[in-house]
Amino acid sequence: MNQTTFIKHLPKVELHLHIEGTLEPEMMFQLAQRNNIALPYSTPEQVKQAYQFENLQSFLDIYYQGANVLVHEQDFYDLTWAYLRRCAQDNVIHTEIFFDPQTHTERGVAFDTVIHGIHRALQDGREQLGISSQIILCFLRHLDEESAFATLEQALEHKDKIIGVGLDSSELGHPPQKFARVFARALEEGFLTVAHAGEEGPVSNIYDSLELLKVSRVDHGVRCVDDPALVEQLAKSQMSLTVCPLSNIKLKVFASMQEHNIVELLRRGVCVTINSDDPAYFGGYMSDNFNAVAEHLSVTEQELAQFTRNAINASFVSDSDKSRLHSQLQSFVAGDNGFV
Ligand SMILES: [Zn+2]
Repeated sequence: MNQTTFIKHLPKVELHLHIEGTLEPEMMFQLAQRNNIALPYSTPEQVKQAYQFENLQSFLDIYYQGANVLVHEQDFYDLTWAYLRRCAQDNVIHTEIFFDPQTHTERGVAFDTVIHGIHRALQDGREQLGISSQIILCFLRHLDEESAFATLEQALEHKDKIIGVGLDSSELGHPPQKFARVFARALEEGFLTVAHAGEEGPVSNIYDSLELLKVSRVDHGVRCVDDPALVEQLAKSQMSLTVCPLSNIKLKVFASMQEHNIVELLRRGVCVTINSDDPAYFGGYMSDNFNAVAEHLSVTEQELAQFTRNAINASFVSDSDKSRLHSQLQSFVAGDNGFV
């Protein structure tokens, strides 16, 4: 079996995915028409052409504009369902997705509209596609603490649907300490915590996310290599990094995939995982990300399977669910599916 076939069939677990970032240009147009919203583009091709980014901020500007077409519960359902169908094609068996309520509440869409649409699609994904899932609420770090507190308040009545809270959007200029009090309150309420750190921002953001925000996973975290002691600490504690290879190239965190450090980190014992971040904008879903790594960084099949093993260990599910996921991976690796 060649590596592409191996990757296609390898069971995968996604831990870093912004549901708004799965909005494909075709769906953007379809929803704009359905909701009577004017777009600054005339065709989906023009949108694709606009997806040339200089850095994180230039991406975010287009990303927030695209999200304007999401208005009704059914829009959020359709968006999530389209993502889940891509998961099924890529053999993703479990996914933990982020959503950005403030992107929607700031423009008058109710929190409940957003969460109900996403949650209903995930339930259908479980029943019809066999994909288990969790939801993580992300605060937009370029907005203030007060707005984050108000968002957390709205999340309290949806604790049964939301496993944790995270921090995304512009990292530079918005360090973890800005949200230390919000995260402390979220932890008191029983939410797990994660945060984007060490993508464009400095190593200190990774340290502060661990210490001040008490994160259970670091999203991105690839700048940890700037500090060997931190790499050692991450490996020892098995703190997971949810790395997004194609995103990192598209946003110029690394100049090329050959220079990406994900395999180096894996070999240094860090619990790194492969994820797609905002796949509609960055050129690929889970298999595409695995293929990009395999093509440019010469990894073994054992190492590719280790990315899934790491993601299962780092997932926010019960021990019995982890055992179920591990046995799905194991039966593939052992060749029970006839692929190895
Ligand atoms: Zn992200």
